[in-house]
Amino acid sequence: MELKADVLIIGSGIAGLFAAIKISEFADVILVTKKEKNESNTNYAQGGIAAVISGDDSFEKHITDTLVAGAGLCNEESVRGLVSDGPACINELINMGTRFTLEADRLHLLREGGHSKNRIVHARDLTGKEVERALIDRVNSIPNILLLENCFAIDLITEHNLQKYKHSPINSRHCWGAYVHNSLTNQVKKIISKVTILATGGVGQVYLHTTNPAIATGDGLAMAYRAGAKVGNLEFIQFHPTALYQDLTGSSKHSFLISEAVRGFGGILKNNNGEEFMNKYDQRRELAPRDIVARAIDNELKKRGDDFVLLDVTHKSADQIIEHFPNIYNHCLTQNIDITRQPIPVVPAAHYVCGGIVVDNNGRTSLDGLLAIGEVALTGVHGANRLASNSLLEAVVYARRAAEYLRGSIGERIYSKYEIPDWDDKGTLTADEKILITHSQKELKQLMWDYVGIVRSDLRLLFASRRVHNLFTEVEEFYKKTKIFDSLLELRNLVTCSYLIIKCAQLRKESRGLHYTIDYPVQNETAKDIIIQNTYQRS
Ligand SMILES: Cc1cc2nc3c(=O)[nH]c(=O)nc-3n(C[C@H](O)[C@H](O)[C@H](O)COP(=O)(O)OP(=O)(O)OC[C@H]3O[C@@H](n4cnc5c(N)ncnc54)[C@H](O)[C@@H]3O)c2cc1C
Repeated sequence: MELKADVLIIGSGIAGLFAAIKISEFADVILVTKKEKNESNTNYAQGGIAAVISGDDSFEKHITDTLVAGAGLCNEESVRGLVSDGPACINELINMGTRFTLEADRLHLLREGGHSKNRIVHARDLTGKEVERALIDRVNSIPNILLLENCFAIDLITEHNLQKYKHSPINSRHCWGAYVHNSLTNQVKKIISKVTILATGGVGQVYLHTTNPAIATGDGLAMAYRAGAKVGNLEFIQFHPTALYQDLTGSSKHSFLISEAVRGFGGILKNNNGEEFMNKYDQRRELAPRDIVARAIDNELKKRGDDFVLLDVTHKSADQIIEHFPNIYNHCLTQNIDITRQPIPVVPAAHYVCGGIVVDNNGRTSLDGLLAIGEVALTGVHGANRLASNSLLEAVVYARRAAEYLRGSIGERIYSKYEIPDWDDKGTLTADEKILITHSQKELKQLMWDYVGIVRSDLRLLFASRRVHNLFTEVEEFYKKTKIFDSLLELRNLVTCSYLIIKCAQLRKESRGLHYTIDYPVQNETAKDIIIQNTYQRS
């Protein structure tokens, strides 16, 4: 079964939807997404989008804040581009129908940790949901975008799928589309395209505690790595300091985020005795960058043996709390916590991956015909640590640039001149051992949390890499014998992403930004990006 379009986009978060809308102005688009169209990290974003809007702010201030957070590893040129494209991107989102919160007819601007000015454009505390709503409405109205839900991209199509060319050198490969599994009909389609764009989001589900929804299994990163694209800086995982503490025996796959904006609003962190502690760690206290706040909480928990710390806003007006944070207020009420009267129990949780697939300023990866945008890409704007609310901005800025690049170049691109084979699952059997998946996934998430979490060491990384190697062998064996299903594909990708995170962490012999190891506690002044590429040839 075959579908064909000029451009295939994989993922319907902010990056994929925005790119689809822009590209549809000059080319036909197929957009596939593995669940319902709005299920994405984007849909859960609360805080907002950073951009220089206010008269007392400036590009230079936003650039400096981003570079400081990035701990010496940002690409300054990329940061300058990100910040200066910001206001135009906010305007485009508004023109596409996004209704941001206003105050006296102007955009209301919040402030978050690490920002020297109020510059967070938001839609109350449901920014991501509002952006998804607006972009999906727009996509639905465009006839030359074919949006396919419940379609899980399994692997990219490159020379390695062709018997005759499968040993072609990794650096001269092309991407001609992807094999996609329809989870409802259980069929695999090949989707052939001139250009493929990965917009598949993050990898949070690698960890036991994460704010990322169940879709965040690093599929795009794993697919790109398997196909031979360069990836890097995956040791820089941002742990959000404040996710609502929850009993992990429940069925939820992710922790509810208590937005940074709650600390910006005046929330105070306290231990279980009601004592404030951030003053011991950083003079910016609760508004210090996320890595500092997350490590401070981690340290308080380990020192005291507690399961959570408290985030207290009870000293603020109840009306204002409810007005600014209706979503957080209502969610906490469902857990029997009235945040206007009780402090909120919080723990850190894996939140964002700064590394990803290496791309240039137009989102082009090292594979011809393959672009990557949004959280899955490594653009150089976050360096070793992402400044709050710069990720939605990055997703829009690079989606827009990728579209502009294709506007000028799609005419020169062609479909594969080779016959692409259909998906071949001869000899595989239907799985009757799904316990292997659930057990391995639990084991992997616990292992990554314990050994590759907020604080690392050489020994922990070594132990983690051995166990992940075993899991890799087992999962690949199972994958080759079995008719595919989504949780098997996700586990396979999670194992690959874990391997990549560990590998990057082992190669970085220093502590910097989000990567902290007790064996190399200081920064190495000559440190660079860590870039890796798959050198084995797939069969
Ligand atoms: C709780 C939370 C709060 C956040 N708050 C903020 C904030 O306030 N400001 C900010 O800037 N950032 C925030 N972030 C980060 C930000 O939301 C993400 O970085 C951003 O939304 C990523 O957008 P994306 O389009 O790259 O990916 P996503 O929005 O994650 O979309 C990925 C899409 O790809 C699809 N997909 C994945 N794999 C496959 C596959 N194999 N086949 C087909 N489809 C696939 C998914 O189903 C999904 O549709 C937050 C993140 C979380 C989790």
